[in-house]
Amino acid sequence: MLELQQLSKTYATGDTALRDVSFVVPRGQVMGLIGPSGAGKSTLIRCINRLVDPSGGRILLGDTDLAQVGRSELRRQRRRIGMIFQEYALVERLTVMENVLSGRLGYVPFWRSFTRRFPGQDIENAYRLLDRVGLLEQADKRADALSGGQRQRVGIARALAQEPALLLVDEPTASLDPKTSRQIMRLIIEICDERELPAIVNIHDVPLAQQFMHRLIGLRAGEVVFDGTPAALDEAV
Ligand code: ADP
Ligand code: ADP
Repeated sequence: MLELQQLSKTYATGDTALRDVSFVVPRGQVMGLIGPSGAGKSTLIRCINRLVDPSGGRILLGDTDLAQVGRSELRRQRRRIGMIFQEYALVERLTVMENVLSGRLGYVPFWRSFTRRFPGQDIENAYRLLDRVGLLEQADKRADALSGGQRQRVGIARALAQEPALLLVDEPTASLDPKTSRQIMRLIIEICDERELPAIVNIHDVPLAQQFMHRLIGLRAGEVVFDGTPAALDEAV
């Protein structure tokens, strides 16, 4: 599970983006993070993957406080966090399979046709993941030949190839049409359930969040102003 204890962040500019944010996301729970622009949603995600250094508090993922992890350990800890992005962040000139394997590696290698350098077990696992996200037939296609929904499925498979302990998902459907958005949300929910993965989903679309998320946390001016079920949100507003 993931536990935030009084996480706070004040930028060097003096802007306080997070104030004493505390919550627990248990395994298998998909939590939607909502709130107006400037509420601190991106800062929260960036503190967890340590693109931003928190000013105070704890970020416990299992036994590790991610807020305290030093430079040398950071890379290893980041491997425990699967990231899924709004614009997919695939390497367009590489194949679907290569993109997924880059998740296993933790970086994109510069050598050509690197697939054959992977142990057979990693390749088999990547095929299993592609099968799970419905892209087995596309394994050898270049990423830039795929539709938006298919690209996001590659993004999901790549994150899972890391065997993460947590998923951080940033606006996963912002570039997709409504029908594809629902399919992607459903897939994320199912996968977190199957793998008992906790997930935080930064999501602008509140109706979509209410339809799919297990739980919602609302941020405003860096503070938690709502924490409850999608149904409870209707009663709160
Ligand atoms: P979002 O769409 O997630 O709300 P923003 O438009 O708020 O993104 O921010 C875009 C980028 O600008 C981010 O990298 C964010 O960290 C950075 N940023 C936002 N506000 C400031 C600020 N006051 N000073 C410096 N950088 C900022
Ligand atoms: P959201 O993702 O909810 O739009 P952000 O986390 O981007 O919110 O921003 C929260 C607050 O922190 C805003 O006041 C924003 O201006 C500020 N902020 C974000 N990034 C930076 C940055 N890199 N430097 C300074 N201030 C920032």
